[in-house]
Amino acid sequence: PPFPIALIGPVQKGFGRGGKDLGCPTANLPDESITPISTVAKTGVYYGYAQVVPPTEEVAKFRPQDLKVLPMVMSLGWNPFYKNKVLTAEIHLIHDFERDFYGHELRAVVLGYIRPELDYISRGKLLPILPTAMTDALIEDIEVDKRVALNCLQRPGYQKFEKDAHFAHTD
Ligand code: ADP
Ligand code: MG
Repeated sequence: PPFPIALIGPVQKGFGRGGKDLGCPTANLPDESITPISTVAKTGVYYGYAQVVPPTEEVAKFRPQDLKVLPMVMSLGWNPFYKNKVLTAEIHLIHDFERDFYGHELRAVVLGYIRPELDYISRGKLLPILPTAMTDALIEDIEVDKRVALNCLQRPGYQKFEKDAHFAHTD
């Protein structure tokens, strides 16, 4: 795929597929804004950088560290809510936010592919009744994805994307 792929759009409400319960909230991008990556059409988990860009009047509600360009993992998958006919991109920023940022602009640069989507991702709302061993496996995989992302982004060639013109200047 032609990395880097730049994405931009307002963060939408998802369908509560258990992101926060797993300690892994994912910011959903609207369909229109994922066209650049949907043409690549390979579902799975990606890594890169992302940045929350609130409107000027909302900036003061965030700490400076929340508005930096941050490492992220992104899941690109067929959305079960639309009978698996619509692709959805969900971005988890590797950072602890104090508050939500629904409606705010999210900018992202996708830099590489980590792994294909696994079956348990599509089981969606069944999560509460799954055996804990399975939920643990899912959490473990997400933790591995985050470590892979952070390691990949250490490579010297990638540092420049943190300063990409696609992102807003914060300092
Ligand atoms: P939804 O189904 O609405 O996407 P989630 O449980 O996935 O619900 O939570 C996603 C929301 O959590 C995001 O839209 C954002 O406002 C907030 N959020 C807080 N911390 C993060 C983070 N580190 N990465 C992504 N989103 C986060
Ligand atoms: Mg989500």
